[in-house]
Amino acid sequence: MDGISCDRCGAALLVGTDVRYVVSIDVRAAWDVMETTREELQRDHSAEISALLRKLEGMDAAAAERQVHCAFRFDLCPRCQREYVKGPLPPLK
Ligand SMILES: [Zn+2]
Repeated sequence: MDGISCDRCGAALLVGTDVRYVVSIDVRAAWDVMETTREELQRDHSAEISALLRKLEGMDAAAAERQVHCAFRFDLCPRCQREYVKGPLPPLK
């Protein structure tokens, strides 16, 4: 079959004929903009860098990257799109 399927319910979606929806989720680490002073630039950052390296040690590259950025892309049929937009962020368990 010349098509794709809904990533939520598995319904077949024919490219070019069926209405489908694309969900793109981009999760990035965010840093607040800080005002950098001359003192801050000249300060010794070696302790902070060592702490960061210790934290990343033992973590595989993919897990480390996921902490900074991960992206998802899903195709949805119209029925699943209506359900998805009602609550795109699932409640905490
Ligand atoms: Zn669906």
